[in-house]
Amino acid sequence: MQLITHPMDNYQAQSHELAEWLQSIQNAQTTDSLWNALSQTLQMVLGCKKTAVYLKNLTTATVTCPYANGLTDHMRDVFAETMRSYAAVNPDLVFSPVVVSDVHQIPDEQLIKRTLIEEMIDAYMLIFFTTFDSWGMVALLGDNATLFSPNEVNTGQAIVELAVANLKNQQMQQKLAAARVRELRRNEITQTLNQAFDLPTILQSICRIATELIYADGGVLGLVVDNQIMIFYPYNVPAKMNLRPAMRGRGVAWQIVESAQPVLLTDYGTHPQAQIKWVKNDIKAFLGVPIIGNDECLGAICLFDTSPERQFTREEMDLIESVGRQAGMAIQNSRMLAEVEQRASALANSLSRQEELDKLKNQFIHAVSHELRTPLGIIYGHAELLESGDLGELTLVQQNSVQIVLRRIRMLTDMVEDLTALMAAETQEFRRDFINPLQLVYSMLAEYRMQAEDLDLTLQAELAESLPWLHGDLTHLRRVFDNLFSNAFKYTPAGGSVTLRMFVEGEKIIIEVADTGEGIEAQHLPRIFERFYQVTDEQYRPRRKGTGLGLALVKEIVEAHRGEVYVESELGVGTTFRIELPGHVNPEGEGVTKGQLV
Ligand code: ADP
Repeated sequence: MQLITHPMDNYQAQSHELAEWLQSIQNAQTTDSLWNALSQTLQMVLGCKKTAVYLKNLTTATVTCPYANGLTDHMRDVFAETMRSYAAVNPDLVFSPVVVSDVHQIPDEQLIKRTLIEEMIDAYMLIFFTTFDSWGMVALLGDNATLFSPNEVNTGQAIVELAVANLKNQQMQQKLAAARVRELRRNEITQTLNQAFDLPTILQSICRIATELIYADGGVLGLVVDNQIMIFYPYNVPAKMNLRPAMRGRGVAWQIVESAQPVLLTDYGTHPQAQIKWVKNDIKAFLGVPIIGNDECLGAICLFDTSPERQFTREEMDLIESVGRQAGMAIQNSRMLAEVEQRASALANSLSRQEELDKLKNQFIHAVSHELRTPLGIIYGHAELLESGDLGELTLVQQNSVQIVLRRIRMLTDMVEDLTALMAAETQEFRRDFINPLQLVYSMLAEYRMQAEDLDLTLQAELAESLPWLHGDLTHLRRVFDNLFSNAFKYTPAGGSVTLRMFVEGEKIIIEVADTGEGIEAQHLPRIFERFYQVTDEQYRPRRKGTGLGLALVKEIVEAHRGEVYVESELGVGTTFRIELPGHVNPEGEGVTKGQLV
């Protein structure tokens, strides 16, 4: 039985069908199903059997045709050409639809006319739209029955808008998913960098992550070595591409390094520095960014793709540039770490060598000073005997010689004494007695008063009324004063003064020996307490006679008494040595006061 439909039934059926088609546009999950639904709906509503969709990328201006239904290849290309010929447009501006109801009206000079007539297309309409990254066009081709009335144009536009809303939605979802993947990959990079891998592993991982980040086919990370050569860390690069280190100036990667600028190519082969090998391996889309660390270009990350439709976008370029910066930091850090490690091990080596040398030196000094004491004593005794005349009268010349011998022996003996004291201070061979500090300085002042007068120096003392006791070795402490006084006398010209101050600060006894002498240049101050260190003139001669052991001995002795020694000096003004020693309470004696000694 045949069903006769009432016109109203027919209308209802049609609107029901339309609603279903519109819904299929809204619900399409992929772009393919979307274009399909759009084409079917337009066919149903406007009666056009032939539909094509074109997209023009806003960044690269490339035109693609993701969907075509019923068009010959030639026809499809003709409209692609039409799309291409439209200048790049402002994405906010969408053209009004182009409606050609009768192609015979098209001027003859327009090439499109012939093709349309040949393919028996009588009318067509172009509807434009924009998405996030493209400008789009839907071409609807009709036959002589198609009128494209204003109503139909409006309806067509509304249907396309519905499809574009879905398209944008899909793009949004993709962007969100891509952003999520990017975030994951970024975290992966940070993690890779934080794990203390060796540099090659880090670089290899960065290259892999960068490639995966933008779904490229493969990539290489080039690292500049010694300024002249670039070595490569590849990811997913066919073995036949045979990556060898590249000399400066050869290849796109070197161009990126030299210009420190990214390179984005739709067809790698068109670049003047393109490598034959790469072109032969069908490299098409290419994206290269510099690796920057500390304002220096350390290499490049180059990603590629071989599929003809694939284009890298500016957004992807920005992303990979940020990976380039991370890689730069990683390279810098790893180089710094390597340098620090190298220095640390060199330092450790030299320290242990230094320690070994110090030990040997001490052993040597110990042995020499002990071995010299006895023979020096004997030589001294005999020289004195000679000088006394007991062994027979000496001529004037002989007397002079003996004087020189005696003077030199005394110098040597002093040195051996200093060395022995130094060893004793170091090995803590010390007595621990309670010493009255005022008694000690009075006796020292008495000893040096005559010498001061001879040298025309004022020797003065500023002493606190009462002081705690010192605890230590009197002989060694006397040496401290001996050295400080003899230095002050040595380096202070006639007419100057030497002041000894002794006072209390907290629990410490402070002893200062200040002179108005020639002073010490600041550059020497940190070293004057070193053994054998002497301030020398331009010819590297010491300014006065000495061994360079005096202050080293002072420091050793003071430190062995748990004290500290400081120096302050100004060239041409004078020098002050300050000694801080712990004050003690003598369990048997009373406190020390000046009155007791006067
Ligand atoms: P030296 O036996 O040469 O005097 P020291 O260890 O006692 O050795 O002193 C080291 C150097 O410090 C000396 O060479 C000298 O140049 C400098 N120096 C020490 N005391 C004074 C001072 N009071 N004034 C100026 N220079 C001094």
